[in-house]
This record gives sequence, structure tokens and C-alpha cells, in this order.
Amino acid sequence: MAAGESFAADKGASSNGTAHAAAAAGEESSQPARSPGAPRSPASSRLRGCLRANLLVLLTVAGVVAGVAVGLGVRRVGLDPAQVLLFGFPGELLLRLLKMIILPLVVCSLVAGAASLDPAALGRLGGWAMLFFLLTTLLASSIGVALAFIIKPGEGATTPKLFGAEAGENAPQTKEVVDSFLDLIRNIFPSNLVSAAFQSYATSYKLVPIKKNLTDEFGAVHENLTYFKLPVGSEVEGMNILGLVVFAIVFGIALRKLGSEGENLIKFFNSFNEATMVLVSWIMWYAPLGIMFLVAGKIVEMEDVLVLFTSLGKYICCCLVGHAIHGLLVLPVIYFIFTRRNPYPFLWGIVPALATAFGTSSSSATLPLMMKCVEEKNGVSKHISRFILPIGATVNMDGAALFQCVAAVFIAQLKNMPLNFIQVITILVTATASSVGAAGIPAGGILTLAIILEAVGLPTDDISLILAVDWLVDRTCTILNVEGDAFGAGLLQVYTEKTMGRVEVEELMEIKTDGPDASKGLGGGEGSPLIEKDGAVILRGFNACEKESVM
Ligand code: ASP
Repeated sequence: MAAGESFAADKGASSNGTAHAAAAAGEESSQPARSPGAPRSPASSRLRGCLRANLLVLLTVAGVVAGVAVGLGVRRVGLDPAQVLLFGFPGELLLRLLKMIILPLVVCSLVAGAASLDPAALGRLGGWAMLFFLLTTLLASSIGVALAFIIKPGEGATTPKLFGAEAGENAPQTKEVVDSFLDLIRNIFPSNLVSAAFQSYATSYKLVPIKKNLTDEFGAVHENLTYFKLPVGSEVEGMNILGLVVFAIVFGIALRKLGSEGENLIKFFNSFNEATMVLVSWIMWYAPLGIMFLVAGKIVEMEDVLVLFTSLGKYICCCLVGHAIHGLLVLPVIYFIFTRRNPYPFLWGIVPALATAFGTSSSSATLPLMMKCVEEKNGVSKHISRFILPIGATVNMDGAALFQCVAAVFIAQLKNMPLNFIQVITILVTATASSVGAAGIPAGGILTLAIILEAVGLPTDDISLILAVDWLVDRTCTILNVEGDAFGAGLLQVYTEKTMGRVEVEELMEIKTDGPDASKGLGGGEGSPLIEKDGAVILRGFNACEKESVM
């Protein structure tokens, strides 16, 4: 508890708007505040202040580094599978904690977020976010294709015997492209909200024998047996987060429409959301240890890495270089162009979340920490982060689109199948579209890779090769997936601060209802949860920014 409080105290400025202003100023959001009249502190105390302000970031990075070192050390001991499981227990605990928090966090933050924004502002924010997500994913896909043509990962690659069979067993069942997209749409409208919390819809196939009597040229009748591939719908393990996201947004809009009748429920979701975020701040302090064991556990359990690197090294390198270019250059440059602010302090602020993405390979599991980081370190307002980040974690997957493009070109090169211009465009478009359907879970992108391969007529059996190295590629891929969401939220924050006129911003922040009591309005009413808390917070934060821009 104390740890959580000290984290809040470290960056508690966000709740009174100071961090907001600091972030607006560019880079000081992670620096401790010093009163103007105070004597200049000596270098050691300044260093201590800086260390304290960035303690969590440093601890998380140290967790990753220590995880690699410990993993390499323990690997030599030669643990048996049961001991490996035991060794990975602290990491497993972190994953369980993060997964536990996803459902309440996504539902409450989206209901509260949608209920607190006026529908026009909601549409505008959502529209810009979607445009940003779409364009950056398309850019990531293009980088993937370009790099795959330059590096040619399929040339000289061999099938690693050690992992091929094992990976083949887990390779996903291939699906018709049309069924994949229909499943995506079905999942947007879950038939049962309770089961959507732990199950999703997925089409599988059953071969149905069809007997036909054929008459030959001599008039004799022969029975001909053919098989028909019948699509069968089934519920599979895994939260239908897309359905929950859509439901929560629409439910939030409906609550706002109710007027004063909906106030209590909005209050409920707001309190639930705030309490969940307090839990997240506690979990954050466990994250460095959990990440260390997640990384170490993976290294211990790995088979011969050397075999993988010698056979599929160019493919791995292509994906990692692509992820680095997009994450360290393209996204920061886009942020800089639109905001004229240094993007790297923004990136530094989300390092704990990026390290968590690396450790967990899951965008969904990283969501709670990402919200905390962008709000408290980068000054993104709760209205924006809690609305945009859950959507981003569900639909925006730059890393997945990039590695899927590399994988598709890699498989074509491996099979000596030259790709023509139309096929390349098809890969770009389907990778961008199918990444939307990829779940924010480990190896989520592998499942939708089959769609791209099917679309350009490439064999899907080689997915097992991609799966063999996915434990590594998926980590940088997840980092990029969540980084794109964070930059999206950061850009929208600046957009609401700078681009919207004063009246519009006030409209965005003002809590009005469209119901019969609209004249009273939630914003004007006493006891409105939104105006008492978030509204006031944002208003102060915005004023601080205004002051800064005047100066
Ligand atoms: N693991 C990724 C994520 O959670 C999804 C993927 O496999 O591409 O974002």
C-alpha cells in the first residue's frame, strides 16, 4: 500500500494538473518539482531526486536485464520441467494480476469515458484516433514489406528440425478469409456479455460427406462421395475484448442520454475505475520482479537458441530491425511533426509499460500500466487515455502488421514464389486489416497471419516456422503495438489542447447530458462524479497549458 502511495506521490502532480503542464512544456514531467525560492540543491541531492522520480522506470529496465542474466545463469543448472515451472512462478503471478485487472479496467474506463464526453467530441476523438491507428499500421506494414525485400530473409533459411515438429503441433488451424472477417464482426456483437468475459467466437470446419449418383456414358449409375467443408461456429477460450470494448462505449453513450437517471451508474463506473487504477499502481511495484522472472523463465525453458538463429536469423533480424525503425524513428517523428515536442521524453515516460509488454508479450496485460504511465508521466488526461488506450490495445497493432508482412514475404521467398505488385498490395492491405482482428495476447498475430497467406495464395503450413521464433519476435512486436497506442493518446492530448478552440475544449470537458434533464446537466448538478473529479482536474491542467503557451 505504501508503495502504491509513494508512486502516486512521486507523480501525484497529475491529479492537480502540474504534470499536465509539465508534459505540455515538453520534457520535465518526470522531474521532481522545486519551489522557485529554494536554494540550489547540491548535485547529489539532485541526482537522488532524479533517481527517485525515475525509480520505477529504472527498476523495470533493471528487471529485464537481470532477467536475461539470471535466465542465462539458471539455464546452466539444467532444471527439469517441474522446476522450470516453479522458477517462473513470480512471473506467472504478475501475468495473473494484470489479467485480473483487464476486465474491470476496460469496461469501467470505457463506460465512464464515453459517458463523460459529448457525442460530437467522442466521434471526433475516435475518428482521429482511428485515422492515426490506420495510417501508422499501414506505414508499419510498408516497412515490413520493404525490409523483407531488402534483407531477403527467406534466402538461405532452413527449417530448424528441433522446433519444427513441436511448433507444427501448435500451429493454428487455417480459416477461410471470409470466415475470419465474419468472426471479427460476430465478436463485435457478443451474444452473451458474461461469456464474452472469457470466451470468443471462432469458426472451425467439419468435413461432411456428400453422396451423389453419377451416370456414366453407358448409363450405369455410380455413387460418388465428396466432402463438403462445413463452417461450424464455436466458443473458444479467450476474452472477447473487442465485443466488450464496443458494448462499453455504446453503453456509456446510452448512460449519458439518460440524463440524471444515469448519474448514479456513471458515478459507480467512475469509482470502480479509480479503484482499479489504485490497484494498478500497486501492481506496478511488483512488475520489475515479475518481469525479471518472466524473462528469466523464458530463457531457462528455451531449447537450443543457436539452432534458431542460424536457420532463421535473417527473419528474426528483419522483424527486430523493422520494429526498431518504426518504434524509435517513425512514430517519434510523426509525434514531433504534429506536436513540435521532443518525443523521446514521452517514450521514456512509458518505459515501465514497454518493459511489461516485453515481459508479458500481451498488449491487453500491458494496458493497465500504460494508462498509469501516460497519465502520470506524460500528462495525458484521463478522458483521453481511458477512452483511447483500451481501443488501441484492441485494434491497433503496428508490430503485428509489420511482422506479418515480413513473414508473408519470407514464406514466399522460402517457397521460391515470386510476388507480383498486386500480391504485395494485398499483403499490405490484409496485414493492416487483419492486425485489427489480432488479439492482444501472446502469439495473437500468428492466428491472423493465415488470413494474409490465404489471401495471396501462399501455403499456411510454414506458419510453424514463424511460431518457432515467435517467443522473441512477439516481444518487440508487442512493444510496438502498445507504443503506437501511447503515441496516439499523446497526439490526441495535444490535438485537444492546441487545435480545438477554447469553446470546443470546454464543451469536451463539460459534462452535459442529452436526456430530459439536459438543462440541469450533470456538469451543473451537485454531486456529479465527473465534474467533481475529472472535469476539475482537466480544467486545471488545461489552464496550466494555456498559461504556458502565453509565455
Ligand atoms: N502479442 C501481441 C500483442 O499482445 C499480439 C501479436 O501476437 O501480434 O499485442
